[in-house]
Amino acid sequence: LPELPEVETVRRGLDHLYAGRTLRALEISGARTVRRHPPEHLQRLAGSVLVGAFRHGKYLLLHWSGGEILVVHLRMSGQLLAAPAGSPRPPHTHAVFSFAGQRELRFVDPRTFGELFLAGVQWTPTPASPSVSRGLPAELAHLGPDALRVGPSELAAAIAGRRAPLKALLTDQRLVAGVGNIYADEVCFWAGLRPQRPGGSLRPWDLRRLAASLRSVLEAAILARGSTLGDERYRDIEGAAGTYQFEHKVYGRAGEACTKCGQTVQKIKMGAKSAYFCPKCQR
Ligand SMILES: [Zn+2]
Repeated sequence: LPELPEVETVRRGLDHLYAGRTLRALEISGARTVRRHPPEHLQRLAGSVLVGAFRHGKYLLLHWSGGEILVVHLRMSGQLLAAPAGSPRPPHTHAVFSFAGQRELRFVDPRTFGELFLAGVQWTPTPASPSVSRGLPAELAHLGPDALRVGPSELAAAIAGRRAPLKALLTDQRLVAGVGNIYADEVCFWAGLRPQRPGGSLRPWDLRRLAASLRSVLEAAILARGSTLGDERYRDIEGAAGTYQFEHKVYGRAGEACTKCGQTVQKIKMGAKSAYFCPKCQR
């Protein structure tokens, strides 16, 4: 499912194709797609200009000229796809934003775990001004710092002294936002650390390597426009697959030879998740 590099690729596409354009109309058809408030509330965006697309962790934040912030979470299978107005809509199209210039932006989501909501809009009638905390809408205030912007000392503070395994800590969105299954394993490989190591067992130099690996893996994956795996539906805004899956060192490679040392990559169970690692390169 989309992690930080995939969501960032979508964000750049949104900014490039739609920022500065006026939203003429929007249609919401999926009952689950807008579930935090009545879907009609989104109609207030009609006539507004998309100021820009921002991101925190795996969440997209679309800022509008009227001051609204539309939050988009793709979750399992959500896609935002650009299309010319009037072209056939794919199955599972749950929301359509019609922009000036005959361009549509479609939210397509077969599994319907994804969602859209206006920040600061409540079920109960309250003043609908976006409530901002730490520069983020209140709905996202539980998230830790973005994984691409977290400082080495901030990351070290989140991990030092913890009993939980490194992979569980890296994927805990409250500690650092944006990393999921794939990139946690890849970051641990580049840092030379086993994903099952308790956070508290990491030495200062381990933590420095971890911070550097986190940054470099995420940046390389963004350059490659994310990872599209066989069973996943991630596509960028123009429907193209990413290419970082061809650079994965351990994720999904159990039984194959490590490209660095030749040892067999292993897969272990970690609670409900699993983790891949090289027993020689990672300690
Ligand atoms: Zn190796």
